[in-house]
Formats: sequence, C-alpha cells, structure tokens
Amino acid sequence: MNVLVTGGAGYIGSAVARVLEGEGHTVAVLDSLVTGHRAAVALGVRFFHADTRDKAAVRAALEAHRAEAVVHLAAISQVGTSVREPRAYFDNNVVGALSLFDAMLDVGVRDIVFSSTAAVYGEPDHCPIVEESPTRPVSPYGDTKLMIEQVLARYGAAYGLRHACLRYFNAAGALPDAGEDHRPETHLIPRLLQLAQGRGEPVSVFGTDYPTRDGTCVRDYIHVGDLARAHVLALGALRAEGRVYNLGCGGGFTVNEVLTAARKVTGHAIPVAYGPRREGDPAELVASSARIGKELGWAPRHAGIEEILASAWDWMQRHPLGWPA
Ligand code: UDP
Repeated sequence: MNVLVTGGAGYIGSAVARVLEGEGHTVAVLDSLVTGHRAAVALGVRFFHADTRDKAAVRAALEAHRAEAVVHLAAISQVGTSVREPRAYFDNNVVGALSLFDAMLDVGVRDIVFSSTAAVYGEPDHCPIVEESPTRPVSPYGDTKLMIEQVLARYGAAYGLRHACLRYFNAAGALPDAGEDHRPETHLIPRLLQLAQGRGEPVSVFGTDYPTRDGTCVRDYIHVGDLARAHVLALGALRAEGRVYNLGCGGGFTVNEVLTAARKVTGHAIPVAYGPRREGDPAELVASSARIGKELGWAPRHAGIEEILASAWDWMQRHPLGWPA
C-alpha cells in the first residue's frame, strides 16, 4: 500500500516508516520538523515538509503519493508542557487532526491508524489497564488524543473512515537505524543513557514513596520496533467501526529497576539524585495488550528491559549527539 506517515521524522514515526517499508509498503513522510529530524527520514523515502494544519499541503501530499492510507503520529507530546500551554496542544494536535481528516476525505483516502496514548486513562483504578477502563485524562495532551479518538469514531460512522487507535504505553529502545532524539530530552531512558555518555542534565528519580515494590513508579516499556509492527498489523485490519488497542508489554519496571539495568547495560555508574514526585505521575501504568494479541496476533518480541536499553544504547553510541541537523 502507499502510506503517508505524518510525524515520520519523529522517534516513533521514523521507526514506523522503516517497519512499513520493510513489510513492502511504499512510505512517504509528512512532518513539520518542529520536533522531528530530517535525517531521521530514510534515504529514498519521499518527504513532504508540512504541518498537518495546512490542509492544502496535506491534500497535495496525499495526491502526489497516491496515498491509500495514513498513519498519523504528528503531534506535540510533552505532558507537562501541555498543562502550561494547552492552546498549543489543542491547536497542533486537534486542529491538525481535523485538517488531516478533511484532506483525506477530500481526496478519498479512508484508512487511518492513529497514534494515541496511555495518557487517555489518567490515574487508573486498576492495573493492568484494559481498553474498557475509564478514560479520564489528567493533562491537555491526554485530552487532545482522546478527542481525536472520539472524532474518528464519529467519522467512521458518518463517512466510513476506517480506523484504529493505538494507545502507546512507554515507547523505548531503538531500531538499528532509528533512535530517540528529543530536544530537550525529558524521558527516563534516554536521560539515563545520556548520563552514561557523560552528557545531559542531572537526573532526579521522581518520588520514592509510591506504593510499589521499591517506592518508585512502575511503567510499561515497549520496544519501538514492537510498537511499529503493531501499526502494520492494524493497517491490515481497519474497519469503519474502529478499534482501540493498548500497546505495552504487560509487565512493568520501576524507575530503580530501569536504573539498575541501565548501569549494567552501559557499564557506567550513572549517578542520580532522589527527589520529590513529579506532578501528575500515577504510581503504576501497566497495559493489558490482550486485545491486540487476540485480534491481530501481536506480541512483543523484545520485552526485557535490558534488551530494550541495549538497543537504545547501541544507537546512541553510534549517534552520540543524536541526529545531525
Ligand atoms: N522519571 C524520573 N526522572 C526523570 C524522568 C522520568 O524519575 O528525569 C520517571 C517518571 O516519574 C516515570 C518514569 O520515569 O515514572 C518514566 O517517565 P518518562 O518521562 O520517561 O515517561 P512517562 O511515563 O512520563 O510517559
């Protein structure tokens, strides 16, 4: 299929684009490059430098690529910033998605896989979280993703837009040729690995008094390659009624466990401080991915935290300063 990947110059999008190509799809990438990197787009992949809010540009890209489907990842995605700057989030993410869907309907593209998030659940009552769990986002970022899911449900019913929403838990790790490079970096794993490289800001472990096995937060880390493979499967099984799938490994590791594994994988001491909780961090976020396993046959291939860290460390050592400008 000819697939347009919005946000394909970003961390997850660049992995999705590579895995789609590897599975025989013909990919083009559309990205504003506000947070993405031109160098993250593989050589030979057609690139459209555009913002999803620019409907005419999106329409032109869909037509030029003769797109049959879209994987929509383009978004801004920092939970904390979204609380301080909700306008930017609703505008970029929600207005951007509406503009994209309009452009798709204008040119008759009706298949879409949407990049959603565990942030739609907010503070869960129980773990593992299933797709039927209540959606109560606690940040504007989570709001925007849930709103887009709701738009897709209505557009599926009214316009036959065939869609799947993938709720990612903590994406981590790297493909051999696509890794993580956020500026500034806020995520735990790349921050720890940057320290191992002797760069980056000091890291504080956010909270040691959570009701977990060692007092630090538990998160469900999923390898970006496993995440990307789920998009390929979802693309092959789209329907107008839509489908929502959690994507995690179902286990979960504490911040301290990730730190211990990072020290082991890198062979560096990685000094950290222990500090107060970060606002809005639930104690535990662990997915049940049973639904996508049962319906699409998806299962993670890299569920060990050391394996995930090793893949990220490998990429970072070969790209010590991230993607070139
Ligand atoms: N975390 C931390 N120090 C940091 C960054 C993150 O202790 O400098 C913790 C954070 O509280 C969470 C986990 O690491 O429990 C993963 O955070 P990250 O920001 O990577 O992803 P999130 O879970 O917020 O999507």
